Amino acid sequence: MKTKRVGFTTSFPVEVVFAAGHIPIDLNNIFMEGDSAGHIRKAEMKGFPRTVCSWIKGNYDAALSANLDEVVGIVQGDCSNGSSLAAMLADAGLPVWHFSFPQEHSYQALDAETAKLEEHYEVSRSEVQRVKKRLDGIREKLIRLDELTWRERLVSGRENHYWLVNSSDFNGDPDRFEEKLEAFLREALKRDPIPAKLRCAYLGVPPIYRDIYDRVRDQGADVVFNEVQRQFSMPYLLPDIVEQYLAYTYPYTVFERLADILPELVKRSVDAVLSYTQSFCHLQIDNILLKKHIDLPYLTLEGDQPEELDSRTLLRLESFFEVHG
Ligand code: SF4
Repeated sequence: MKTKRVGFTTSFPVEVVFAAGHIPIDLNNIFMEGDSAGHIRKAEMKGFPRTVCSWIKGNYDAALSANLDEVVGIVQGDCSNGSSLAAMLADAGLPVWHFSFPQEHSYQALDAETAKLEEHYEVSRSEVQRVKKRLDGIREKLIRLDELTWRERLVSGRENHYWLVNSSDFNGDPDRFEEKLEAFLREALKRDPIPAKLRCAYLGVPPIYRDIYDRVRDQGADVVFNEVQRQFSMPYLLPDIVEQYLAYTYPYTVFERLADILPELVKRSVDAVLSYTQSFCHLQIDNILLKKHIDLPYLTLEGDQPEELDSRTLLRLESFFEVHG
């Protein structure tokens, strides 16, 4: 059987794709690792408006240039633009499978959706569970990495972001990912703790800004909690695949996110919150409720293009740390 390269637009049960012997590829990661500005430009030349989120445009063109065999488009529970993106990819000739996180958030509905995915990839639930167990071995090490970030302070917020965000697809090769992760952890354990006079949480989708973690460090602060990136790493280690993706907060409402965020802010002794929003993203509305329910110094940042922090945003960041640092 041919090994397929399967692109996807946000975390979903990748265990199914691995169980079928294929390679899952998170389009967001290849968009950011490649010529991001070029991907956006090419999508706009195909007609995507300027007022559509850059991640959508980037994912579209990244998918067309990544030599994919097919795409899993997450059309419910991710992005309000997800269905239209999937339609554009299908129109460009890529086979698209639609996956939904049912908004009723019930075991039965997500179980049925997962079963359809298994049927499509011709794998059984027990094969998927076997892969899940294998991936959970790596996820345990990511939990350790996360602890080294907020407890021992041997891992920086930027490094934490890098490892957790890449756990959405394990860079397509879990064995190699694990090897590199183990080597990183061995080195981190030899370090001295990284000072952080202000312990920050980073909330929201991963930043399109390339240098945000470095600029936070410039202020003598650091990120000790990367909310959505940690969700990509499926940190609860629940034994059942359906339970795992029910506990994954990102596809559901802001209240599920808050139920995860609030205790983590306390556990990690977070002093201040940086809430990242993407221009033209519906999650900017959820940010209103996050801000309302989080009783900590709170700075909302908005990014648009893949670039370094612009001078206005940098000034806002510096002023925030001057007041709260
Ligand atoms: S940042 Fe928002 S609008 Fe952009 S792809 Fe993600 S969910 Fe969609």
